[in-house]
Amino acid sequence: MPESIEIARLIEQKAFDLGFSACGFAPADSFKEFETEYRKWLSSGKAGEMNYLARNVDVRLDPGKLVEGAKTIISLAAGYYFPLPQHTPGNPRISRYALGEDYHQVLKSLGKELLDWIQKEIGPVNGRIFTDSAPVFEREWARRAGIGWIGKNGCLIMPSQGSWFFLAEIVIGSEIRSETMVVPDRCGNCTSCIEACPTRALAGDGSMDPRKCISYLTIEHRSDIPDEFHGQWQDWIFGCDICQDVCPWNNKPKKSSINELQPRPGLSEIDRNFFRNQNASSFGQIFDGTPVVRAGWSGILRNFEFLEKDGSQFYNLIN
Ligand code: SF4
Ligand code: SF4
Repeated sequence: MPESIEIARLIEQKAFDLGFSACGFAPADSFKEFETEYRKWLSSGKAGEMNYLARNVDVRLDPGKLVEGAKTIISLAAGYYFPLPQHTPGNPRISRYALGEDYHQVLKSLGKELLDWIQKEIGPVNGRIFTDSAPVFEREWARRAGIGWIGKNGCLIMPSQGSWFFLAEIVIGSEIRSETMVVPDRCGNCTSCIEACPTRALAGDGSMDPRKCISYLTIEHRSDIPDEFHGQWQDWIFGCDICQDVCPWNNKPKKSSINELQPRPGLSEIDRNFFRNQNASSFGQIFDGTPVVRAGWSGILRNFEFLEKDGSQFYNLIN
């Protein structure tokens, strides 16, 4: 494959045609300089019960260990914003990203289409697609590829589209140069996300303590939710969007052009009766193929139980 800025433009255009909202290119350099800091973070215990974060650290730090001869990371962003009704306090809340089809499948399929197109129209190249599916620093890859900057809420933020998007990457064994410029940090003096986070999980430098984050605690954390968080939950039963909702860069979100990512019928706003008389089987049927199944019915019940101690009536409704 010849090295050319024109190739980058063609790939970018194809990515847009497929529904991606952004496409950037970065050299597949190693992240060795992050190793000490990352290992220190792991030792601090902040990974909580996400033991997988401590596995394959060497792979995480070197794209060349994922794809032999890796030269370029094509970073892709896929918007998932669809307008939702205003939340009614007292109704259980599910994070916006989890209301549609599982993004892993959707993005993997779109990424495959793009890679197939590159191999057919541009030239043979070895490549591999990632969608939150391997131990990679995907936000940092996207930052280096000029998609956006990492905000104080820990999300990658695009100046034109805010942060309601998923990331995917294609690591390829050919060099592609582009005119991409790294986007400077535009959080400035804003601290809205830090102040709005009910559990004080955000450190202010783009890092966070997952052990305090509602998103981690309602999904990845399998043990009981610590009592210290009572009174701070704001109806969340799967994930939390507060630090994105308050971000001024999300004031004018663009509607996604990927229909599979839109909320399934009936899930845009669920009311307090939604879970009445449900069980593991009906839960599995309703949420099959969405990210919500990751928590499992037992996890959702645990989350309801936690909210019940704060006075919510959800758990009563399903017993
Ligand atoms: S997702 Fe919610 S709990 Fe987690 S950092 Fe953001 S506001 Fe805080
Ligand atoms: S809310 Fe403000 S500080 Fe937080 S990510 Fe958005 S711009 Fe940055």
